Amino acid sequence: MDHLANLVKQSDSEAIEPPSQSGAPNPAQATHVVHHKVQPGDSLSSIFSEAGASQADLNRIMKADVEYLALETLRPGTELELTFDKQGEFQQLALDLDPARSLAYTRVDKDTFEYQETVQNTHWVSEVLKGSIHGSFYQSALNAGLSKTQTASVQKLLEYQINFRRELRAGDTFSVIVGHERTATESTGKTRIEAVSLERGNRTHTAFLFDDGNYYDQNGKSVLPAFRRLPTAKSFRVSSNFNPNRLHPITGRRSPHNGVDLATPIGTPVMSTGDGVVERVGNHRYAGKYVDINHGNAYKTRYLHLDKIFVRKGQQVRRGEKIANSGNTGRSTGPHLHFELHMNQKPVNPLKADIPTSADVPKTALKQFEKVAEYKLAVMRDAASRSNLILAGIDTPFD
Ligand SMILES: [Zn+2]
Repeated sequence: MDHLANLVKQSDSEAIEPPSQSGAPNPAQATHVVHHKVQPGDSLSSIFSEAGASQADLNRIMKADVEYLALETLRPGTELELTFDKQGEFQQLALDLDPARSLAYTRVDKDTFEYQETVQNTHWVSEVLKGSIHGSFYQSALNAGLSKTQTASVQKLLEYQINFRRELRAGDTFSVIVGHERTATESTGKTRIEAVSLERGNRTHTAFLFDDGNYYDQNGKSVLPAFRRLPTAKSFRVSSNFNPNRLHPITGRRSPHNGVDLATPIGTPVMSTGDGVVERVGNHRYAGKYVDINHGNAYKTRYLHLDKIFVRKGQQVRRGEKIANSGNTGRSTGPHLHFELHMNQKPVNPLKADIPTSADVPKTALKQFEKVAEYKLAVMRDAASRSNLILAGIDTPFD
């Protein structure tokens, strides 16, 4: 069973008003807008009280956020916009996640708010960072201009080829191509590792991002360990499939199901499907007890309605490691595990997605991959030492 059943139960006695066509409230009715910049220690509850919006409406917004959990960790500095109509009724909560991504929770009837995400077109601009080993790889990478997150991603990409603690020597060199996501006018703050080359004596270790979203070495061999397809040891009946186009049976509006529901009895061991770091542990009114795991390099997984959680935020986990017992927490119509897989910040079907499988570049794509790898190697080699050479679109010549 999934979350939809609850929505139906609570709204079927109400008349459904015609839904507004855009996510924005009708400007003729939008007479009052409250702006609030999130401060450390703020809660949505206090922000709503201060603005004069009801806790019942906040609750309805939490319900609309259950498939996204976007409001669970609001960064200080985020600007919130609360819009009220002429009668003083609260209509919309809007915010920018970054310069390319905006969210709005808009009232569609008395009891329901709808989530809408607006994403601007973005492109990637690449930069080459070079450095050599003096002290730890970590410190050397920071010295070369990589961020802490980028350094961790690079280590993750090469950790199955090299032991960073024992096998590096002073003077070994490395080059990294970092992609920066931009809108037409500004950076979104998102970056990705597009290529790595580490020269250790006469050995070179490499990883290249390919257009299937996976990383391979120079010979087209996968550099990341396989993910498990499912987070349980046994297989369970799928009680609700991933469905980005699910329609709400009452309103007829899109109400996506961003994960797959497995009919697990309470207490079923839940495993991380890949190596990673626990990014969030929380307890949401509708999603229940949940865990988010960041697997680095574009992959995240999410586990909802858990009973007992055995990991803490910041903890490293391995593929197959038990992180929780499944449960029936939050608003859930029966015990089940809701499991999500995100690639590049988008939920994808965990049963079908192209996950790292330890497989090599498919034969049909190998020629194209070799060209990309050769080109990126040349770019990294030829970039001036420790330079920040900006190369627009080095990913695209072979598309
Ligand atoms: Zn679900």
